[in-house]
Amino acid sequence: MLSILRICLLLAVLAVVTLGAEDFYKLLGLKKDASERDIKKAYRTLSKKYHPDKNPGDSTAHDKFVAVAEAYDILIDPETRRIYDQYGHDGIAQHKQGGGRPAQHHDPFDLFSRFFGGSGHFHGSGERRGPNMEVRVAVPLRDFYNGRKTEFTVEKQAVCSACEGSGSEDGVVETCNVCGGRGARIVRQQLAPGLFQQVQTMCDKCGGKGKTIKHVCPVCKGERVVREPETHELEIEPGMPRGVRITYENEADESPDWVAGDLIVHLMESDPKLGEQEHERTDGTFFRRRGKDLFWREVLSLREAWMGDWERNVTHLDGHIVRLGRKRGEVVQPGTVEVIENEGMPIWRQQLPDEVSEAYGNLHVEYVVVLPDQMDKAMEKDFWSVWEKWRGKKGVKLDAALGRPEGPIKMPEKGHDEL
Ligand SMILES: [Zn+2]
Ligand SMILES: [Zn+2]
Repeated sequence: MLSILRICLLLAVLAVVTLGAEDFYKLLGLKKDASERDIKKAYRTLSKKYHPDKNPGDSTAHDKFVAVAEAYDILIDPETRRIYDQYGHDGIAQHKQGGGRPAQHHDPFDLFSRFFGGSGHFHGSGERRGPNMEVRVAVPLRDFYNGRKTEFTVEKQAVCSACEGSGSEDGVVETCNVCGGRGARIVRQQLAPGLFQQVQTMCDKCGGKGKTIKHVCPVCKGERVVREPETHELEIEPGMPRGVRITYENEADESPDWVAGDLIVHLMESDPKLGEQEHERTDGTFFRRRGKDLFWREVLSLREAWMGDWERNVTHLDGHIVRLGRKRGEVVQPGTVEVIENEGMPIWRQQLPDEVSEAYGNLHVEYVVVLPDQMDKAMEKDFWSVWEKWRGKKGVKLDAALGRPEGPIKMPEKGHDEL
């Protein structure tokens, strides 16, 4: 009974003191049920945003950078997270004092370098930068039209999190006693009696690394890096151009020796393929795109093209219907292109003038007319007699109408010089 009272009292005290420090979840923009992946993702985004190298002289950003690292350290460890969830900041403080296993307790810059490689800085003294990485991601035309949030996964080199990029299981890394840490040795070679040459060779004890490790990290086998898949969010905005480049800062291959370069995604259009789901089974799947315009080929029968009285419902990329049609007596010549305004691609917001919130290109419909190549005998007879009846009365002599001379065209007999 007494102990319950004490706990209640303790909780009351904790509740009072906790006011003030910013909530770790809020700080990382997370909900209480955030997964380990969510926490890592939030850290990746925010630590880059607030890194002091990117915000020189801004002490608020610096404080945020430190706070984000602390929040990450607490929430990524299941034990400290549980304590934090129950007792808040003071629970964590008690936990540290009470000799509980301390949270990872990273220096914020060390933590940063675990995620992005290098020494934790972007452009400190001579900080090297790793190569950029370029990948192609293909999405269907439908996604360029409607916009979509999706994900893609790339395999990349990442700093080994088991050994934090040291390559050593116990974190002990010794300087190579053969080369003294230089990674190379000078070897004297005798060319002739009395004539020597000094050659520099790679140290074979340490493989040129200058360092040796007694207990090699079992995860990365001492390589300090591992290959692992990483998933990124991809937001396709309506009307984005094909081939547009989307940059993910510092998300390329990582290494303890450099700061990761950028991951650059080229957004491509995949070949048209009817979707599996009902709403994806649209005619628009087979639209072709050129810039902001779309192109569609509609087939008409001879009767439709000539006599009119037809209708078509073309299902657009978002499922809405575009109606095509002609009344009786309206002729469509083969090859005619009908331009339907505002039924093309949405125009990407980056290419819109500020005062316009949305606009669309045009849909170009090309009409192809197909003649019947087989006819019922009786039908052929009927048509033939109709043509014969009207040919004499109303027929137009095309040669005369076009001003073409009658009879075969005569070629000049002489003086026809090929040059
Ligand atoms: Zn060596
Ligand atoms: Zn390792």
